[in-house]
Amino acid sequence: MFKQWFCRCEALLEIELEGPMLVKSGIASLDGPDAAPVLTLHGTEGQAQPFIPGSSLKGVVRTHLERIARGLRPHSVCIPYLKSRDRNLPGGEGDCVGCGFQLQEVQKHLRPGDAYRQSCAACRLFGSTRHRGRFSFSDAYPKTGPMKPVTEVRDHVAIDRFTGGAAGGLKFDAEVVAKGIFETRVVIENFEAWHLGALAIVLADFEDGLIAVGSGTSRGLGQVRGRVRELWIDTIREMPTLAGVAQFAREEAGQYGWSTWAPNPEIPLPANPLRQGLRYRYPLDEAWRDKNLGALIPGFGGFLAERDWLNGIHALVAARGGNHP
Ligand SMILES: [Zn+2]
Repeated sequence: MFKQWFCRCEALLEIELEGPMLVKSGIASLDGPDAAPVLTLHGTEGQAQPFIPGSSLKGVVRTHLERIARGLRPHSVCIPYLKSRDRNLPGGEGDCVGCGFQLQEVQKHLRPGDAYRQSCAACRLFGSTRHRGRFSFSDAYPKTGPMKPVTEVRDHVAIDRFTGGAAGGLKFDAEVVAKGIFETRVVIENFEAWHLGALAIVLADFEDGLIAVGSGTSRGLGQVRGRVRELWIDTIREMPTLAGVAQFAREEAGQYGWSTWAPNPEIPLPANPLRQGLRYRYPLDEAWRDKNLGALIPGFGGFLAERDWLNGIHALVAARGGNHP
């Protein structure tokens, strides 16, 4: 993976519960990977408190962006857990074998940058078995004070009442968080400009309540609303306008296949950035966010349209002597 540091984007995101969020329940085992228990109890000051693991938030956001990507452009992202072609999946999506499994076929013949360059948009952002992604989420801990989380144990009858779903005669007790506000930090290291488009979509969809968190979301649990509290861009050089990693390291851009997509017109960064060590830090306030985040959103669809991911990765595997899984 690329070792130099050029730029980074960090968002502080508040996630407020709008309905009960499932902590642990018998429901989880019926829902498959979607419903692994994502909320656990974390001990501080002798008292257990719920928190949302960053890995769970990353999973939820990845799935959300994958759905959007498939809607914008079929076969534009892989199915990360799909190990070989599945003719039974509708719309030819069964051709979209996980990037990690495709690249594994030619593992010994990969050159630096190959794995990232040939990976789909989702694997570029969130990683695969071949490389780390650029997005990370910190564990989301609850706010204290009057908004501190309240957990309750409910039986399956109570669960049925608030989901309207059928419990199928199952007996279980479920622990839910009834209210609370959690806070996570979303970081994208060495972002490409279109990554910020993906982030802008995620932040907007959290704000619109379109992303659910926790177990049992298919049953209507885990409805949340997000709020961006802070947003920063850090860069290694002072920059008058927003630019992605391709602008900082033009020589490597081809090797890693960094997109040169940039918002048009260019988006100015605030003057007089803060200095933090060698970094320049640009705090992006609410007025800046309201004005500019929307202009980044087309970058996500633009990247999908610019790359023919599936044919590209097939061509790489064939060129290096591998077979399509
Ligand atoms: Zn992929």
